[in-house]
Amino acid sequence: QMPVPSDIVISRSCVPKPIDCLSREVGMLSDEVELYGKTKAKVQLHIIKRLQSQPDGRYVVVTGITPTPLGEGKSTTTIGLVQALGAHMKLNVFACVRQPSQGPTFGIKGGAAGGGYSQVIPMEEFNLHLTGDIHAITAANNLVAAAIDARIFHEATQSDKALYNRLVPLCGGERKFSPIQINRLKKLGIEKTDPSALTEEEITQFARLDIDPSSVTWQRVLDTNDRFLRKITIGQSPTEKGYTREAQFDITVASEIMAVLALTSSLEDMRQRLAKMVVATSHSGQPITTEDLGVSGALTVLMKDAVKPNLMQTLEGTPVFVHAGPFANIAHGNSSILADKIALKLVGPNGFVVTEAGFGADIGMEKFFNIKCRYSGLRPHVVVLVATVRALKMHGGGPTVTAGMPLPKEYIEENLKLLEKGCCNMRKQIENAHQFGVPVVVAVNAFKTDTEAELDLVCSMAKAAGAFDAVRCSHWAEGGAGAVALGQAVHRASGAPSNFKFLYDLELPIADKIRIIAQKIYGADDIELLPEAQHKVELYTKQGFGSLPICMAKTHLSLSHEADKKGVPTGFILPIRDVRASVGAGFLYPLVGTMPTIPGLPTRPCFYDIDLDPETEQVNGLF
Ligand code: ADP
Repeated sequence: QMPVPSDIVISRSCVPKPIDCLSREVGMLSDEVELYGKTKAKVQLHIIKRLQSQPDGRYVVVTGITPTPLGEGKSTTTIGLVQALGAHMKLNVFACVRQPSQGPTFGIKGGAAGGGYSQVIPMEEFNLHLTGDIHAITAANNLVAAAIDARIFHEATQSDKALYNRLVPLCGGERKFSPIQINRLKKLGIEKTDPSALTEEEITQFARLDIDPSSVTWQRVLDTNDRFLRKITIGQSPTEKGYTREAQFDITVASEIMAVLALTSSLEDMRQRLAKMVVATSHSGQPITTEDLGVSGALTVLMKDAVKPNLMQTLEGTPVFVHAGPFANIAHGNSSILADKIALKLVGPNGFVVTEAGFGADIGMEKFFNIKCRYSGLRPHVVVLVATVRALKMHGGGPTVTAGMPLPKEYIEENLKLLEKGCCNMRKQIENAHQFGVPVVVAVNAFKTDTEAELDLVCSMAKAAGAFDAVRCSHWAEGGAGAVALGQAVHRASGAPSNFKFLYDLELPIADKIRIIAQKIYGADDIELLPEAQHKVELYTKQGFGSLPICMAKTHLSLSHEADKKGVPTGFILPIRDVRASVGAGFLYPLVGTMPTIPGLPTRPCFYDIDLDPETEQVNGLF
């Protein structure tokens, strides 16, 4: 066997078909497609209306065992599987994947377009600006941030009357409320549309949001791993008259607007979600929303193109939607509902849509079911659980690995004992999928150092744990041809009975919902709400957000809250430090430990390798 060339060499050796050809092949009409150059296009949302009566295809979610630094290959398997189903088994297919953040691309992780002979191409387009969706989120997010601090400043430095006169200015001798301001009046219970009819008290009520600066939860964002922005002081210029405040930056993909984009089902729904986002609390304890700030319409305008899914292709010419990429700890880590919905219509009843859920099955898959499927109404047919021999060995007690150092021999030589021990993690994640009533196919992503006996052992352990099937695959080294057995297993499993059910009822108290996830999915004995979390549970229940689904912000590196506990930890109590709300996106997120929301750069970041060849305009160094 020839050695597999680098990802970028493979990506570049394949000439992508013109994207307008691909859009026609998959059944899009020309007035539904917006071209962004030759290899990317956006699809307009009205396509859903045209295809309304078309039955949906089969819906497959790819997830994994608990991740290790050795990498499991979920993205690679997602792409390999659609290449097998589409290019080799001649079925209609779509892959739906997340758009990667540029932070890791230049930082520590590098690109995320799959790998080997299973990739989205062109990988430089995929990993860099794509069609600007993340930049649109940065712009929208920071408009909200600017609106918050400007409002606090103006309220602090002006009288009620002056504020009112500026908020509702004379225009041609007349004052008029904007539609957004009329919404705010309604929320305050003031049923008036004539600005001169408000009483003094109503003027104060309307003009003052009275934001408590210490309660602001909305952060500024950028799509760069800039650790020095983790804590900043804003307002230091004399023009801000001493109204300084401690604040922070997050990476753009951690913005609630990214989660809104991923969970929205239409333009109208996005407008409503963008209006409902809670950014702070007033001194009297009222939640302050983006609608209160008057910015929700402008946000929708900034997001009007980002809401359309992006069409690209795999190395074997099958279609891919790349759309949204929310954080997988403080958000739900899944690509967009809109892309999945459009793809399911396009492939038709005999086709397959393969979507990917970030991190391990305890995080990405649990959120896929309990949050994404709850909002989309879509019902999955099959779970593909990716496992690797080397990662399972680490769960069996194999040594830790250090980046840049050679792998310890446990991972390159046969070791059936370690492997068998580590299969407990796979068994637990299979059980987790079964709790939702969906059949599981285990994909054993083969590495060249794996032995026959090792690959066989994982397959038989998976079947013994109740998997519908377990197959080894070699799509990284061979493309779709290496995942045909997986494709066939998925095809068969999609005909098996699926009795999909949610894990918890939304109307349960917040703490009960958290406890159910902790006990049933993580294997915890119980949860412990620390004082801040207890306070927030009470606050959100009082504010009327108690029936939102739960989005756990927990380490992905262990089923427990301690990253170094591999395998299946038992006998632990899950500590909940705090609970936050993403009301617009539509979930509460309990914090189990501290979650970094903007990565830093390592000593030797990936950008050292990246450069442009001015002759050919080729991007070099993205792997
Ligand atoms: P995940 O989605 O689980 O984070 P990826 O699919 O992005 O993982 O794969 C992580 C890395 O491992 C990528 O660089 C990919 O090229 C590499 N990889 C995946 N599968 C294999 C394999 N079978 N052999 C060698 N490298 C692989």
